Amino acid sequence: MLSCKKVALDMTESLDQELSLSKRIRLAVHLTICRECRHMKGQLLLLKEATHQAGNSEVALPINDDVPAMSSDFQERLNEAVENFEDDSDEG
Ligand SMILES: [Zn+2]
Repeated sequence: MLSCKKVALDMTESLDQELSLSKRIRLAVHLTICRECRHMKGQLLLLKEATHQAGNSEVALPINDDVPAMSSDFQERLNEAVENFEDDSDEG
């Protein structure tokens, strides 16, 4: 079974590129049994929506240079989340 950490990495990868079918199946299986990862997937999708809209919309957004870029900040938060996924169980 996939560990939650691996699932998180695969989910972020899926934001940038299409995952292979085998990966998507393994993710789907894990998500059916893991509430934590389902929740994280929801958060990732929300962020993806937000960044997608920000990147493509012609609506002028109040983005200033002192606002940290979504991507780098997001990456840091994600790394924290991934580390928090580590638990005491021997097998994830
Ligand atoms: Zn999980």
